[in-house]
Amino acid sequence: MELNGTGRVNERGHLEIGGVDVMDLAAEHGTPLYVYDVALIRERARGFKRTFEKLGVTAQVAYASKAFSSIAMIQLAEQEGLSLDVVSGGELYTAIQAEFPVDKIHFHGNNKSEEELHMAMDYKVGCIVVDNFSELSLLDRITSERKEKVKILLRVTPGIEAHTHDYILTGQEDSKFGFDLTSGQAEEALKQALESQGIEVLGLHCHIGSQIFQTTGFLLAAKKIIGQLKKWNAEFSYQPKVLNLGGGFGIRYTSEDEPLRPAQYVEEIVTEVKNQIADSSLSMPEIWIEPGRSLVGDAGLTLYKVGSEKDVPQVRKYLAVDGGMSDNIRPALYEAKYEAVLANRPNDPVEETVSIAGKCCESGDMLIWDLPLPKAGRGDILAVFCTGAYGYSMANNYNRIPRPAVVFAEGGEARLVIKRETYEDLVRLDLSYQQALNSK
Ligand SMILES: *Cc1c(COP(=O)(O)O)cnc(C)c1O
Repeated sequence: MELNGTGRVNERGHLEIGGVDVMDLAAEHGTPLYVYDVALIRERARGFKRTFEKLGVTAQVAYASKAFSSIAMIQLAEQEGLSLDVVSGGELYTAIQAEFPVDKIHFHGNNKSEEELHMAMDYKVGCIVVDNFSELSLLDRITSERKEKVKILLRVTPGIEAHTHDYILTGQEDSKFGFDLTSGQAEEALKQALESQGIEVLGLHCHIGSQIFQTTGFLLAAKKIIGQLKKWNAEFSYQPKVLNLGGGFGIRYTSEDEPLRPAQYVEEIVTEVKNQIADSSLSMPEIWIEPGRSLVGDAGLTLYKVGSEKDVPQVRKYLAVDGGMSDNIRPALYEAKYEAVLANRPNDPVEETVSIAGKCCESGDMLIWDLPLPKAGRGDILAVFCTGAYGYSMANNYNRIPRPAVVFAEGGEARLVIKRETYEDLVRLDLSYQQALNSK
């Protein structure tokens, strides 16, 4: 197992992240515990930004905060000069609590409520990414009632399929997201938006999928969108300020994954946009991207304590840990694959193949099938890698399991950034039968 970022095996033979022995973290904060390598997040953010600078392109790199939204994480994004994507009132509220610069917040979502749109306008977010006709007319009405203007991007679906798991495909025409480019919907939306007094159309947005390993899809999408932009420029002189090509850059979860370097995605995308623009009357728009997973995914790991084991002779050995689909639902949801080591003795030789089960009451609650490990048992600490994206953000309280704590490790220091949920937290919103009767 190759370690990412600052990960290494220290003098005590333990796994260390950000100069911190993860066994000390498990002892202090308990398990399950998410640990982030903050230096690696910074490096990833700087990698994207540097590439745009090197290419001389005005850009925004917006962290898709749904990958992992918390106040400290959003403050880290601000420190690195990122913009921020939010997709709900709750994510927007978190960004506001983190005092993130509002003009760099982009508000996404296929079903923003009227309240959420008002909230976005109250806080004066940088732009709203409009997804469908009903949202467009709602926004037209709201801006006219409020006598205010709002900046938008139109989300289009370019009909490009990203090579990835079906459940997370969003670029194809039959998608719940965006205005279809091919059928003329996008053109109709643009015309309506341009006619609206309260709406300023900054440009177009597309997001073709997630965990993508090739640039082909991005290049095809860019080509198709710019083709349309050229047509619209000729027909009604529309000149976009912004072209947002979304996120979805893949990361290495296991040795079978072969992602490109973040810089390579950006270089190829920018080159394609430049080429497409070159022979047209369009001027070069700002390029915005929205990485989520590729900023935080491989910078996070989860520590679990090994508990019971079960041998099914001639079939397999199960090792159960003290978390599961409550803190990482991705294996159950997408058959996502992970690698792991024993944090207390990562260099011990592999002796057997085990399957890692969670503690939830679902047969599907398996974290890893067929993991090579040294002989392990109760009390060992398992570190599952690459859980930094869509781990905590999808965590839930199934079986009333409290959500784990989150720690940031950097430069030999560890800082608790999200507290562990307590049993009291779990019942905090519950009303007793008597309270429910009295509250009528
Ligand atoms: C989810 C999402 C992203 C981020 O995707 P990653 O795969 O985490 O990079 C970016 N943009 C939009 C619109 C999204 O829905």
